[in-house]
Amino acid sequence: MADDESLFGGVEPDAAALIAARPHLSRDADGGLMLEGVALASIARDLGTPCWVYGAGTIRRRLAEMREALDAAGLAHAHIHYAVKANDHLAILALMAAAGAGADVVSAGELGRALQAGIPAGRIVFSGVGKTLADLAQAVTAGIGQVNVESREELAMLSAVAEAAGRAVDLVIRVNPDVDAETHAKITTGKAENKFGIAWDDAEAVYAYAATLPGLRPRGLAVHIGSQILSLAPFREAYGRVADLVRRLRASGHEVSRVDCGGGIGIPYGAGAGPSLTGFAGVLADTLGDLGLDLMLEPGRWLVGPAGVLLASVVLSKQTGERRFLVLDAAMNDLVRPAMYDAWHGIVPAEATTGEPQKPVDIVGPVCETGDTFARDRLLPALGPQALVAILDGGAYGAVMSSTYNARPLAAAALVDGNRWAVISPRQEIADLWSRERVPAWLSDAAFAGA
Ligand SMILES: *Cc1c(COP(=O)(O)O)cnc(C)c1O
Repeated sequence: MADDESLFGGVEPDAAALIAARPHLSRDADGGLMLEGVALASIARDLGTPCWVYGAGTIRRRLAEMREALDAAGLAHAHIHYAVKANDHLAILALMAAAGAGADVVSAGELGRALQAGIPAGRIVFSGVGKTLADLAQAVTAGIGQVNVESREELAMLSAVAEAAGRAVDLVIRVNPDVDAETHAKITTGKAENKFGIAWDDAEAVYAYAATLPGLRPRGLAVHIGSQILSLAPFREAYGRVADLVRRLRASGHEVSRVDCGGGIGIPYGAGAGPSLTGFAGVLADTLGDLGLDLMLEPGRWLVGPAGVLLASVVLSKQTGERRFLVLDAAMNDLVRPAMYDAWHGIVPAEATTGEPQKPVDIVGPVCETGDTFARDRLLPALGPQALVAILDGGAYGAVMSSTYNARPLAAAALVDGNRWAVISPRQEIADLWSRERVPAWLSDAAFAGA
């Protein structure tokens, strides 16, 4: 897979290299880890751990950097639609709204969040293979900017919804380009055997069909081949294929004015450089740039992933046979990526450590599963109980994938913005864990009778 230890050729980057590669992280004079202008230890003291911390300035800077790369490549008509599923917190979405980004949503819930955060409906696109009639009706009623349709069946559903609402709906057809994104199998979406999009050979027929349905305005195509893509070659291949399809559709007399290029640009979880945005924008310009299209991008991970950390405290360290374990108060229910995708995350002390030699240690959470392992054989200095560590690059696919497994309350979250910070999610209360649960009367009465 793309983001595992083999990337580092067996030599993992150390804490200093990881921090040096992340301009939003630094050490203060006392050795404490800072995110932008705020000491992470001070947030941990106030909020407790585990706790997510995101950098608003970092996200804004990344968004600006992406826009600059697109502009520099001459792609003036490129619009960024943040993929909400990477991090759907209202504060993050409000930041995106204020920065003028649109949104890419994949559920009625995400649509609701984006609207609630102030992203105008006209700047929202709705993707996903299983939008229900109710989802589509909600989107159409809200005045959604574009629906990315993934099947012939969905076209018929959308047409019925558009007619019932008396509205014309802009849509693009998501095609499956049968390109290997060379990423983890669980996040590859553009191969012929994946569930996403319309099969390449059916695309022209489906586009023609869409043009015949009442209430629908086919505007163009969409493609999204996967996530955490570290090489530009799969993008070049996919966008090149889409450009051919645009030409063929136009030659058959269809209007094609937009291409939604999806997301998927990867980030380095180690200390390397990651794919260059200039290179990525160059690929867009080379393949789709001269077709006079409005281009759309749906980045998620690239915008927010590096901007967040998960703070955790050491509960204890223990030796079991040959192995040394560092047990944290964060677990797979908070950050599931290591357990789910074998993902590698940098883990660094967030406070000054002694100069003792580093030793390899397995870093684990308290959940009753062996999969609850953040890292194996990671070199760390000796860390005693309560020592604070930061798990890096948790801004995307972190908190959004959290669960309350093992009845562990959802972690707190804070947003840093330069020198200030605010709590954006208090820690979930224990009693909240069962606040949606009801015990049927016959059970509670029986318990009462038996007492
Ligand atoms: C997940 C997803 C994205 C965002 O992917 P990233 O890898 O986070 O950039 C964009 N578009 C669609 C359709 C998606 O499903």
